Amino acid sequence: MGQRIHFVVDPQGWCCMGLIIFVWLYNTIFIPKVILFPHYEEGNISVVAVLCYYFCSLFCIASLFRASVADPGKLPENPDIPITEREHWELCNKCNMMRPKRSHHCSRCGHCVRRMDHHCPWINNCVGEDNHWLFLQLCFYTQILSSYTLILDFCHYYYFLPLKKENWDVFVFRHELALLRISAFMGLIILGGISRLFYTQLMGIFTDTTSIEKMSNCCEDISRPQKPWQQTFSEVFGTHWKILWFIPFRQRQPLRVPYYFASHD
Ligand SMILES: [Zn+2]
Ligand SMILES: [Zn+2]
Repeated sequence: MGQRIHFVVDPQGWCCMGLIIFVWLYNTIFIPKVILFPHYEEGNISVVAVLCYYFCSLFCIASLFRASVADPGKLPENPDIPITEREHWELCNKCNMMRPKRSHHCSRCGHCVRRMDHHCPWINNCVGEDNHWLFLQLCFYTQILSSYTLILDFCHYYYFLPLKKENWDVFVFRHELALLRISAFMGLIILGGISRLFYTQLMGIFTDTTSIEKMSNCCEDISRPQKPWQQTFSEVFGTHWKILWFIPFRQRQPLRVPYYFASHD
């Protein structure tokens, strides 16, 4: 469960995701070439700053890749529903399958997703119970990477000493100003958009409410007991270890065994 490659056939989603990968590639190729390496060679920045940049970049692309190919929480064809859990299940009138409450049918993906938050065209996948943690990591590392890029753009112009050894035969130095302006422009747009999204996502987890539930205002009917924030975050990330909440290179283990996987007599 959750380890199969999940691939959504949606050309619009491919375009959105392609755009995100383009921005990532742009910043991962040009920023080190124009700012990081030349300033490192001239002793203006330390190797730690270079490594940190590449770490952020790696964590960003890893969480993007994993969030987009992870199974968001598709339901099995014939779920084995324990008798005690029956009242928590309902029938989807679109795919005619039984699903636990809080699931939602995604018309883009064509199936129901457990604890679906929303369908995200930027990762070309649904954000559901099994990949919500990766989506949060993606938002987090994208914010860090775009802030880092903006700081570097700024420092290159206003703070660092001018480069002594610029090679004007190289494309990136000839078009340096234009490249950095594009990078700063993309950084500002992405940072603005993602910060807003990240804030609403965090608020949703604090209150244990998905984006779909918030939009449909259905939560007054659901009398869920209020859980402490550590519990709701641990459930999303599948671990109580807070340090692991930041690591995309692991497998998520659900804290609560899903209904149909629970063994019963
Ligand atoms: Zn359905
Ligand atoms: Zn979907």
